[in-house]
Amino acid sequence: MDCKKLRNWFRKNAAELPWRLSDLDAPRDPYAVWISETMLQQTQVSTVRDYFTRWMKRFPDIETLAATTEEEVFKYWQGLGYYSRARNILKTAKIVAEGATQKFPQARKELEALPGIGAYTAGAILSLAFHQQEAILDGNLVRIFSRLYAIGILPVDSKEAADTYWDYAREVADSPKAYMHNEALMELGRTVCKVKNPECTSCPLRDTCRAHLENRTAEFPPSKKHIQKDWHGTVLIIESSDHKILAIHGGQKFFKNQFTLPHFESPRSATAGLPAQAESYINTDHVAVVENIGIFKHNITIHKIECDVLHIKLSSKAPVRNKLAKTAHEIQWIERSDATEFFANSFCLKALALLKP
Ligand code: SF4
Repeated sequence: MDCKKLRNWFRKNAAELPWRLSDLDAPRDPYAVWISETMLQQTQVSTVRDYFTRWMKRFPDIETLAATTEEEVFKYWQGLGYYSRARNILKTAKIVAEGATQKFPQARKELEALPGIGAYTAGAILSLAFHQQEAILDGNLVRIFSRLYAIGILPVDSKEAADTYWDYAREVADSPKAYMHNEALMELGRTVCKVKNPECTSCPLRDTCRAHLENRTAEFPPSKKHIQKDWHGTVLIIESSDHKILAIHGGQKFFKNQFTLPHFESPRSATAGLPAQAESYINTDHVAVVENIGIFKHNITIHKIECDVLHIKLSSKAPVRNKLAKTAHEIQWIERSDATEFFANSFCLKALALLKP
């Protein structure tokens, strides 16, 4: 991830929020971070603004909060829902205020031992208030990582998925600017990389975002309801005698809106000889050699893919014009030397990697 671009974007686009300081590099008050992050769980920023301002006026610090009653706390929480959050806030305030130092602990383990403080809130307090290189992970960051790196692990709340996303979160936080990376990603997820219709054209990460580059943002993160399906297919690398490779747009299983290599579903071990599907793209009288050059594996959302790759060499040059224009397909012949740049998706790149020099 290009963290510099992310930071530059955040400096220009950070919204003014009552819990955010105008100096984005200044360490925050841990109490304010804790209250705002707890309020923001399950609740929109627009709603939390006023609640936070009222709260901080009534309970400006942890000592004032610890000295109050549950009834009074509920009065200032009313309307935010999930009252266990308010109850836990009061419990934690009392524990901290009555502790030896009367200060927030500065270690993840101790913070996570406090009522209502989980891995996310602990990471937020440690990074935003104490400028520690600590990671955070919430739904916003999971969505961004899933799209950036095309992570399709299912179920999305499995241990494997959580470990993968936390690894990415730690990578982002492995910097003296972790506080800014964490907050910028939260903001990016809220305002740009939204659940529906992400605004990729204004995203600072668009140049390296796989979901965006492969036109597959709607596929990530994969839905909890999805069950992974095995899909076996064949990819055709059709090469003319003047070393051009056939690219096709339309009529394919994957990558409907971009050029890809021809591919189709096929049973396992049914890839000997020239498949009938090749006739859709070329004059099969000009086929000189058909060779199965290997198999690759790939995941696309719910599809756990395994593909045989057939290299079909032609005895003729690539036609100047696409004579199959009457079909729904659009065909282009790409110089073999330009193919890896042209086919931007990793599905095609894995197939092309099997080509012999
Ligand atoms: S390019 Fe689009 S999908 Fe990718 S991180 Fe940015 S907003 Fe999200």
